[in-house]
Amino acid sequence: MDSQTAIRKEMIATCQRMNSEDLNVGSAGNLSVRIDGGFLITPSGIAYDKMDPSQIVEMDNEGRYYGDFIPSSEWRFHHDIFKARPDVDVVLHSHATHCAILACCRLDIPPIHYMVGVSGGSVVKCSGYATFGTQELSVEALEALGPRNACLLGNHGVIAVGKTLNGTFGVLAEVENLARIYIGTRMLGGGALLSDPQMDVVLQRFKTYGKQTDEIDPSITERVEPPVHGGARLH
Ligand code: 13P
Ligand code: ZN
Repeated sequence: MDSQTAIRKEMIATCQRMNSEDLNVGSAGNLSVRIDGGFLITPSGIAYDKMDPSQIVEMDNEGRYYGDFIPSSEWRFHHDIFKARPDVDVVLHSHATHCAILACCRLDIPPIHYMVGVSGGSVVKCSGYATFGTQELSVEALEALGPRNACLLGNHGVIAVGKTLNGTFGVLAEVENLARIYIGTRMLGGGALLSDPQMDVVLQRFKTYGKQTDEIDPSITERVEPPVHGGARLH
């Protein structure tokens, strides 16, 4: 099995997981992974449980596709995000219900919970509306995404980006949870928002959260410190 087949299989597994974990419905959504000279992207309109690795489409950096299957109708924003964001290797789009509810109300997700920091900023912005599959939608998406890891698409859904399939899936799951929390707080009359300084601390701490000591840049002072190490256990 060559390495592309492995990525293609992992892409399909990620899309199936997205649907089974209630983060998308049916054949909505799409996923791409950067490769040398371009990217791999899910085909248009094919159900994930019927999708075969050979149906994943290869595209180049000029927007040409190769093989027998039509790429996702949203290939433009995948292409444009890879071009604008060299730090991104995975783009995942879904119609997650709570994200879509906020997107239909054209609401950003404000710093209602510290986990908003997972999006790489203190707000998940919602774009204006544009028809699916258009260059106009790509322009809107890039503007709302900015340098962050997620954005909502007006009257449509959500985009998460990242370096790995697992990490990007995690961002999508977290943003959907934040959308749920934010809707809940609005139903109770509105929650207390975190301030810019409070979010700045969170964003600093996220640089070290979940990392082992030897992976942490020692110049970062605002960090999550582990408790005192008690040495190796004998059992
Ligand atoms: P595709 O099946 O063409 O990827 O379209 C799904 C979608 O979500 C369009 O926005
Ligand atoms: Zn969509």
